[in-house]
Amino acid sequence: MSATIIDGKAFAASVREKVATHVARLKEVNDITPGLAVVLVGEDPASQVYVRSKGKQTVEVGMNSYEHKLDDDTSEEDLLALIDKLNNDPAVHGILVQLPLPDHLNEDLVINAIDPAKDVDGFHISNVGLLGTGQKSMVPCTPLGCLMMLRDHHGSLSGLNAVVVGRSNIVGKPMANLLLRDSCTVTIAHSRTKDIEAVCRQADILVAAVGRPQMVTGDWVKPGATVIDVGINRIPAPEKGEGKTRLVGDCDFDSCAEVAGAITPVPGGVGPMTIACLLANTLTACCRANALPEPE
Ligand code: NDP
Repeated sequence: MSATIIDGKAFAASVREKVATHVARLKEVNDITPGLAVVLVGEDPASQVYVRSKGKQTVEVGMNSYEHKLDDDTSEEDLLALIDKLNNDPAVHGILVQLPLPDHLNEDLVINAIDPAKDVDGFHISNVGLLGTGQKSMVPCTPLGCLMMLRDHHGSLSGLNAVVVGRSNIVGKPMANLLLRDSCTVTIAHSRTKDIEAVCRQADILVAAVGRPQMVTGDWVKPGATVIDVGINRIPAPEKGEGKTRLVGDCDFDSCAEVAGAITPVPGGVGPMTIACLLANTLTACCRANALPEPE
């Protein structure tokens, strides 16, 4: 293996530490405590784990955490009423509705009911438009975490060829917009892209956000490129015992690490940065709401 490992876990800890310092100062100087409300509808086990982890880390950096757990059969009307209440609650600076929602709820409608200033996931159509036009917005947490690691590793990204594999609204598209904003030459690849391996081999920065375990192999990677693996996939791990599983990314770590200059591992890469950026976004929202200087 020749690639440098980009340690997302350590980076996320440093982001959380900065957030905690800023939160402590806000409390001391301005008597303000940022608050994050997380809404979970239903009993999806993965979502429950995420929500628990978000709540724990929110409290650890000194913010208030408000968890709203609603039944699987909650009506759209009741969910929208809760969002309206949170929009109007001055103690709540960030609102996150955990996705996916049960099928009977319209995700777009629900997300667009959140006050864009409190939309710490950055999924509201206003924030999507602001990001797309290069204006100040709330930026989706996962791509923001990827960008922070890339800036930290490269310094300037200007002029680099970036290929983003995946065009989802929550990862691929905002990632591409952020890289464009940092003056990369950006290509978005997806399931219909022809000769995707050759497209990827052009990349100085290769971001994989596909949801297919270990799809990107070393022969897709330009020597020396930086590989950011967003994927989180659970696969069987018989070597650990019967019925055991392990987490892998969308990249085949071993073969990619032979060729890449730097790579994020899974777990311990993009994942921890996502929650750290959620906390950073909540702090930013709180500062904006109170017309205070924003953290850098
Ligand atoms: P989606 O399923 O919404 O999007 C996947 C994208 O990958 C689509 O654009 C799809 O193309 C493309 N794709 C699928 N198969 C192929 C293929 N064979 N070749 C090329 N492109 C392909 O996934 P998400 O964006 O929500 O998530 C992507 C991954 O990131 C998942 O593993 C998810 O678990 C992980 N994730 C991790 C987070 C973190 O915190 N680290 C947060 C969010 C997601 P098309 O549009 O043509 O169908």
